[in-house]
Amino acid sequence: MIIYKTNEEIEKIRANCHLVCKTLALVGSMLKPGAVGSKIDKAAEEFIRDHGAEPGFKGYRDFPWTLCVSRNECVVHGFPTDKPFENGDIVSVDCGVYDKGYYGDAAYTFAIGDVSEETMQLLRITHESLYRGIDMARVGKRLGDVSFAIQDFTQRVNKYSVVRELVGHGLGRNLHEEPEVPNFGKRGRGVKFIEGLVIAIEPMINLGRKEVKTLQDGWSVVTKDGRPSAHYEHTIAVTKNGPDILSDHSYIEKAIVKNEHLTEIKAVEYSLS
Ligand code: MG
Ligand code: MG
Repeated sequence: MIIYKTNEEIEKIRANCHLVCKTLALVGSMLKPGAVGSKIDKAAEEFIRDHGAEPGFKGYRDFPWTLCVSRNECVVHGFPTDKPFENGDIVSVDCGVYDKGYYGDAAYTFAIGDVSEETMQLLRITHESLYRGIDMARVGKRLGDVSFAIQDFTQRVNKYSVVRELVGHGLGRNLHEEPEVPNFGKRGRGVKFIEGLVIAIEPMINLGRKEVKTLQDGWSVVTKDGRPSAHYEHTIAVTKNGPDILSDHSYIEKAIVKNEHLTEIKAVEYSLS
């Protein structure tokens, strides 16, 4: 069952999503060659608690960390570790918070130092696919229009692969609610968008083949071919005036510009019409 949200609930989710993005900005200020995920995770947890909220992932189905830190061939759900980041790494960082009965969720893939042009292009295209998906989240359209827009742009136009095993999701009082939001699908199919639907849209796109596997830690999902994977996520609300992006990547992007160790994605400016 889909739980549609009131404006008041949407504002609570927005506040949480902003705290998530401020936390990801903190992450973006700390990432550099030699930095370790476990320390960044600790700082992120303190930051969230200092703001009176709780980490949304820690303890969720026994996930042990505040952040999912997924490096290079890791698609999502990676553990922060003590292994130092290196020049040329890409790192997807996913974060959730919980406050006042609601969740917030967003993710961003960072590029550390000299990342290959092939991988930078994967990041740019995955980032753009997120906005192309969001643009379809309009009253009168259907879930499949979002899924199709992401798959068509990444797979057909740009020849990347779309991960099938993991999808976006509704959220609210629960981190994962109905509906599922796949990054592949058919136009005009699935749930019809109506006002008050809140979903996380999160393309997970592989440079190589689409197949993934889960590591023995029970969480980390990696590409089977070992090639890089990118991931960007926004939480959005469907409104009568179009999609309302509740998370705000601009906090993160400002931190990236300030951090000389990170490379800007230089994403295509995608304005929603
Ligand atoms: Mg997320
Ligand atoms: Mg999510």
